[in-house]
Order: sequence, then C-alpha cells, then structure tokens
Amino acid sequence: MSNITWPEGKRFAFTVFDDTDRATADNVRGVYAMLKDLGMRTTKSVWPIRGPRQPTIPGDTCEDPAYRAWTLELQRDGFEIGYHNATFHGVDREETERALDRFAEIYGHPPVAAANHADNDDAIYWGAARLGGINRLAYRAMNGFRSREFYGHVEGDRRFWGDLCRERVRYVRNFVFEDIDTLGVCPQMPYHDPSRPWVNLWFASAEGATCDAYCDTISEAAQDQLEERGGACIMYTHFAKGFEEDGQVEPRFRQLMERLAAKGGWFVPTSTLLDHLLAQKGRHIITPAERAELERTWLRQRITTRSRALIRQKVPFASHLPLP
Ligand SMILES: [Zn+2]
Repeated sequence: MSNITWPEGKRFAFTVFDDTDRATADNVRGVYAMLKDLGMRTTKSVWPIRGPRQPTIPGDTCEDPAYRAWTLELQRDGFEIGYHNATFHGVDREETERALDRFAEIYGHPPVAAANHADNDDAIYWGAARLGGINRLAYRAMNGFRSREFYGHVEGDRRFWGDLCRERVRYVRNFVFEDIDTLGVCPQMPYHDPSRPWVNLWFASAEGATCDAYCDTISEAAQDQLEERGGACIMYTHFAKGFEEDGQVEPRFRQLMERLAAKGGWFVPTSTLLDHLLAQKGRHIITPAERAELERTWLRQRITTRSRALIRQKVPFASHLPLP
C-alpha cells in the first residue's frame, strides 16, 4: 500500500507517456479522442524539428503544420506535450538547442517531461550509461558487447546537451518495468541521481511499447491490483504502433481503458502526477543501493522478456533487440 494520497479522494493515479515514433497528424487521433472522452489527460511527446536525413523510424514533426496544430489542440484540451529528443535521428548540440527553443515557442514553455528516442545518439544517459558497475557490465554482455554508445551527457562531445537538459527539463524517463504499479516498483520516483547530474529528476514507467504489451500490463487483474495498492502507473508506449487502424481504436485496448476509466483514478499528465509526488515526498536523492536494486530488477525483467522473444523468434541470444 503506498502512503501517497491522491487529490480529490482518488484511490490511484494513472497516466501515459506516448513516444511519438511513427505518429502523424492522422494515425493516433482516434486514441486521443477516446482518452479525452474517458476523462484521461496524458502526455504526448513530439519531435520539434524535422531532421535533414532519412529516419529509421519516421513520423511527423512540429514542422508539419497540420500535426503542430493538432498537438496544440491537445495541449488546449489539457494534455501535456513532452519531448522525445530534437527529431527522428541523432543531432548535434546546435540542433538540440534549436529544437528546445522551438518547443518553447510553440507550447509556451520548455518541455517538463522527456524520454529518449532510442535511435538517437544524442540520447542522454542511454544504452549502457543507464546502468552502473557490475550491472553495466551485465548489460554489455547481454548485448554481446556490441551495444551502441550515446552522447547527450558526454561533456565536450558535439552531441552534448546535458546543461540544456538541466536548465530546461524537469523529468526524464529511465527504467521501464513490467508491473502496472510504477510507484510500487520505483517508490523513489521522482529521484535525483548524483551519478547522472545533468538530469534533474528521473521517473520510471510500465511496459507498453506495443498494443499487446500495453494490454498485458493493464489487464483486468493488474488494474484491480493498482487500485487496491493505491499506486501510480506511468505507461510507456507508442500509440502509433497498432493501437488504431483506419480511425478505429483497437477493441481490447479500448475495453481495458474504459474499464480503468470507470474506476475513477486520478488521470492527469505525467508531469502533474510527478509534481504531486514531489510535493508529497520532496526531492529524493537515490542511494547507490537503491539504484543497484532498480537496475537488477530491470535487468532481470529484460532477460525474461528477451528469452520469451527469442524462444518465439529462434534468434541468437546476443542479437540486438530493443531494451525499453
Ligand atoms: Zn522513440
């Protein structure tokens, strides 16, 4: 049972941070219309500028007028707009600065919450840098010692933007866990990590990268558990990956979200939820032991998820699979 109390006598909190991969002005409209109807206000991330190169994972940016207008409409409706790096591929510091300036111009303030786009080498404290000590070594081994490097936090590198992150962004996502109760598995959040000083405060999330994974995490039993524990869930997802087809919201996803909405939780954007935790608990400085425990839980869950995926796909253990 969490000892956090939620506003308005609500029994639990639930939100979503939607990574913008593949999202366009059209392909997630149905999902957001549904969330709005259900009284849920969540976080939709954006890429403020369009990169000059071809992306591996495409999607609209705030340079597309129709898309920009739609995200502003979401903001007016009470949704939060978050940051998913400058654009759909890695960029140098100047471009990140331009993207952060542009974000503030469009939305009236710098981004409060951010999550790395895993494809960008300007990602901050990403890849092996998410972990420390022996856990970092274990991560490298899991990736066959071929893991990519990321440079957003590396002072002196042309992609460094740590100082801008510290000046402008309050919350950054790191670990994603299988549990629906994100606060239960990471009671320290939002926390500051002295070994990663360029990020003010970190938050964790619950696994939901695809529609199937999302629905597994918020199953009926899991929802009941979240309510019972009085916990808080921050879903990690990509709403443009299979949650809507031809304007129709995927039926199982809709059914589960309707069931959850009927429980009457506190359905506010990621930053509102984290601000509330911050106000109740203060700014937590994570200890090395607490962090090592989070890392171990995360690695353990990754290994299990990966083994399941490998059994299905029959590919070598060390081959590159995404680690949310
Ligand atoms: Zn992404």
